[in-house]
Amino acid sequence: MTDILSQPVLILNRVFAPVQLSTVKRAFVLLYGDSARALDANGEEYDFEEWRRLTPLDDDEALPIIGGALRIPRVLHLHRYDRTPRVAVRLTRRNVMFRDQQQCQYCGKQPPLRELNIDHVMPKSRGGADTWENLVTACRVCNLRKGWKTPDEANMRLARRPFRPKWSMTAQILLGAATKYHEWEPFLQAG
Ligand SMILES: [Zn+2]
Repeated sequence: MTDILSQPVLILNRVFAPVQLSTVKRAFVLLYGDSARALDANGEEYDFEEWRRLTPLDDDEALPIIGGALRIPRVLHLHRYDRTPRVAVRLTRRNVMFRDQQQCQYCGKQPPLRELNIDHVMPKSRGGADTWENLVTACRVCNLRKGWKTPDEANMRLARRPFRPKWSMTAQILLGAATKYHEWEPFLQAG
């Protein structure tokens, strides 16, 4: 039960732009308070009274309540909220790896995350900054091989020039979610 209530729910603003990930618990509060409508997989909207009459799709998708079960919403539409979020992508290890598609920027390998490092293109010891333009994902082997050299000195080539991503909230949401539901797909495209 606790688990179900903390599952992620995609929250959309009035114009159907993703604004955040919330929880099933919060989703029911919003739905019950008529601050939001639930969307089913076909994009149909339901208020709380309509939603509670839906049959849960299967056991995994149901919240047991007295006298039956509530279907778990996966997407919520805030029908009165139209502010578009503008969130800068934070410079973190995880986000750099996400930008680089978890691929070593020197050899192109995609080892497991734990075997990836963050490499300073211009080494830190030589004034290289912690910036989007100076940090890349590198596998251990390449990271070690490059050491305190620049790519030129180490005779290594970057797959592409590192850049500050222009991600929308969509990417933030993808980053934040360990689980994804097929109901989210129409709203998480592009970005
Ligand atoms: Zn590598």
